[in-house]
Amino acid sequence: MRITTDHVIFEMNPTNQPAAQVKPGERLVFETLDCFSNTVKRPEDVVSSIDFSKVNPATGPVFIEGAEVGDVLKVTIHEINLADYGAIITAPGLGVLGHEVQQEETVICQVVGDEVKYRDFSLPLRKMIGVIGTAPAGEGINTGTPGDHGGNMDTTAITEGATLYLPVNVDGALLALGDLHATMGDGEVVGAGLEIPGEVHLDVEVIKNSHIPTPFVETEDKYIAIASADTIDHAVERATKNLTSFIQQEYQQTFNSTIMLLSLAANVAVSQAVNPQKTARIELSKQVFDHLKEIPAENVSPVMSELDDHVAEI
Ligand code: CA
Ligand code: CA
Repeated sequence: MRITTDHVIFEMNPTNQPAAQVKPGERLVFETLDCFSNTVKRPEDVVSSIDFSKVNPATGPVFIEGAEVGDVLKVTIHEINLADYGAIITAPGLGVLGHEVQQEETVICQVVGDEVKYRDFSLPLRKMIGVIGTAPAGEGINTGTPGDHGGNMDTTAITEGATLYLPVNVDGALLALGDLHATMGDGEVVGAGLEIPGEVHLDVEVIKNSHIPTPFVETEDKYIAIASADTIDHAVERATKNLTSFIQQEYQQTFNSTIMLLSLAANVAVSQAVNPQKTARIELSKQVFDHLKEIPAENVSPVMSELDDHVAEI
């Protein structure tokens, strides 16, 4: 099943008409426009020439049969194919140094094999999906804003081989995606990655009775909880809280033992610091995470008297 760019939305909204209805497990291909609706092709196509009513188009939405409110959507990303050229832009007011940008500028970059050519630099190709989400329950959310439904999370881990877990807030879930990047650094400091059209091959499963704290990503070696909020601080707090609660519930660990484990073993990272809501994530290796399944419920830390005895022996 191929979803073409004849079906784009600019708001994730429960009232959107589905572009298609599919069964879980069916292989889907989403064709995507770049975040400028493919209007930036040359260095002359600067930000002031862009129609801002047409930024961040997401292809879809797709109605997933059997997805009911409260379920979790498991999205396995098999393959991302990109066009040969993408654009990186800067302009006054955009990004973390937007107040210092004097002049707008667009640079077109070619993708060659596993590399992105930016000026004289050959940068590694790091494909990712900037916008992917389901419809929120209530009012629509524009596709430029991230949230608990997913959306414009600009998270580098959302790429080929990864599995993304999203909430089902309305029947059918209404999955949509777009805003591919050929590469982007964590934080996305100018407010853009290498913006590029392409297509994404994926399949979707519906998980019933799941407590996975969405949005959540599983990679080859990590579990990653993602959260968005008005500030990076609040996003870090929310992501950490979500992962902590999940570990507590799922593995009957105390709050203290969980947060200490995360402080010792988990990495916090900024996904993006430039969108209307900021996105952070906390990553825990599968090796550490999977060990939780093997240890007894309750806190397994040695009690203080044992520690004292040990210290006395030394
Ligand atoms: Ca984005
Ligand atoms: Ca983008």
